[in-house]
Amino acid sequence: MATLDELLEDLVTANHVLAKLGIVDSFGHISIRHPERPDRFFLSCSRAPERVSRDDILEFNLECEVIDAKGKQLYTERPIHGAAYEARPDVKCVIHNHSPGVIPYGVTGHKMRPIMHMCATIGHDVPVWDQHKKFGDTDLLVRTMAQGRDLAKKLGKGGTCLMRGHGCVVAGPWMRRTVYTAIYLELNAKLQMQAEAMSRKRGEQGHRDHLAGQCRPRLGELVPHGRPDLPRGDVSPNRI
Ligand SMILES: [Zn+2]
Repeated sequence: MATLDELLEDLVTANHVLAKLGIVDSFGHISIRHPERPDRFFLSCSRAPERVSRDDILEFNLECEVIDAKGKQLYTERPIHGAAYEARPDVKCVIHNHSPGVIPYGVTGHKMRPIMHMCATIGHDVPVWDQHKKFGDTDLLVRTMAQGRDLAKKLGKGGTCLMRGHGCVVAGPWMRRTVYTAIYLELNAKLQMQAEAMSRKRGEQGHRDHLAGQCRPRLGELVPHGRPDLPRGDVSPNRI
């Protein structure tokens, strides 16, 4: 089992990996639940993910109040994290980002589906949260726990949820799996757009159902339900 120090080092690395791959830019964040205190989580202070260091990692309670701010500024949208941990005891890691490929699926009503086996962890049905429905005209940021809880409700028992006109949230049972899903959610968005453009040119109908249907059994093989956490260091694709 990884020590707390090792997990926090991994959290710093995860920030850098997500930035390197363009899943987050100067904005977006990743948190992990405290392994010994499930009512707390760790998240960086307000800093571009590629610049995050170990000293930037702060501890929060599930109301998103910081335990010791160390004089640092905080991310505004931390209710995304606190509300997801509050609603889902199984969630150990949360990522919020604005990766560009997912945005069209949040605003067009065009359904995102996993179209290849490596994207199966995004879930067969990716919901879209529309903040306007409950909160009216806003700047679309998740600033309050009420907004965070409404988003967590839309996330439901799944691992991904798009946010209309904003980005997405990815929640998972351990850090590496959650980073993996965030990366492949963006890849799926790009591949699905390419596949649908090609199908439209050929005048094909029903390609989305066809592709999603093939992915369904793979999802079961890749992500069996109730799987316990995996040891740190295991990154082989069939154990993600
Ligand atoms: Zn955001």
